[in-house]
Amino acid sequence: MSAADDDRLSEAQSIPIMDIAAQLKIEDLARAGHEWVGPCPRPGCGGTDRFSINPDLGVYNCRACGGGDGIALVRMVLGCDFPSALSHLVGEKHLELSEEERDRRRRDREKQRQKDEAAANAAREKARRQAHRIWMDALPSLGSPVQDYLAIRGFRPEDYPGIAVRLRFHPALRYMVPVRGSREWQVVHCGPAMLAVVQRPDNKFSAVHRTWIDLDRPNGKAAIEHNGEGLQAKKSWGPVKGCAIRLFTPAKADTLIMGEGIETTLTGLRAGDGSAAYWAGISLGNMAGRRILKGKGMKFAGVPDLTDDRAFLPPPWVRRLVFIKDGDSEPKTTRAKLLSGLRRAKAQMPGCETIQIVHAEDGLDLNDMLLGDPSGENKDGL
Ligand SMILES: [Zn+2]
Repeated sequence: MSAADDDRLSEAQSIPIMDIAAQLKIEDLARAGHEWVGPCPRPGCGGTDRFSINPDLGVYNCRACGGGDGIALVRMVLGCDFPSALSHLVGEKHLELSEEERDRRRRDREKQRQKDEAAANAAREKARRQAHRIWMDALPSLGSPVQDYLAIRGFRPEDYPGIAVRLRFHPALRYMVPVRGSREWQVVHCGPAMLAVVQRPDNKFSAVHRTWIDLDRPNGKAAIEHNGEGLQAKKSWGPVKGCAIRLFTPAKADTLIMGEGIETTLTGLRAGDGSAAYWAGISLGNMAGRRILKGKGMKFAGVPDLTDDRAFLPPPWVRRLVFIKDGDSEPKTTRAKLLSGLRRAKAQMPGCETIQIVHAEDGLDLNDMLLGDPSGENKDGL
């Protein structure tokens, strides 16, 4: 690439992704914590809330189409190649910038970054307070429909000793989605929900995890539809990055076993002997942290980006970190994400000596799961 092309590229990369979104007429996004959420702008994709932009990181993601930076967003929406996307953003001109001009632009970029960060922090704090209000409005879970929901999922109260304080019941919780074509939210469902507290590494309340329940359905989860699209019965409100749902943490534990969801984690807890801690990681993305994806074959390599300073890390007492892999998720991507989180823990937490992936298989004793390795997942020098 010529120096002029380099300048065009860095100029394109310095455009805030929200400006690019506005330029592409992606206007129907609603604020959700530190992200903007709405329908996917790729022609033919759409949906309700499958698309999101994270202005802090300058990236977008669609649950159906995948994600990338601002230039990738242009390519996706306009269906064009990289050179055309670059031309769309910075024109055809081949400008050679003076050192002075380069410095000025660098300072502008830094100023903008600080402004964006302050706005993102304020939005996170606002969402955290809203989440805390939802949590404080809820009722104890024991003896509530939460207990009945967990029974449908195969868990009796003795399977989750002491966990009841981490879970609460909300009799009529609103399920909101962004309104298409505006920055408002609308209620698409209101009903009973199981709440779980999401804690930050410093133990503070950060977010509330919500599972809308319907005890008349076989899996106990509410069927929520909007515009003909089935929506996830569970989602969080408030910042969850780097956080976890700490379901069970016995004194003197040195092993932390994490599943993505509450139910998977409880399956592990029920199978275990009570000596390990069991936390739910909320989402695979949260357990993985930012990954290095650029380069051939990197998509499935599971290499953590160690500059992600808000990614999840286990606490210092963890000697052994085990991630439970769900049976129903896409295997290659899931494995890459789990590997990324585990390798990050090993690289950044000196006490974390052993890392491991086990498969969630009902009926299998967790100790067998921990000892045995039916898939050969761990044979690659994890
Ligand atoms: Zn899409």
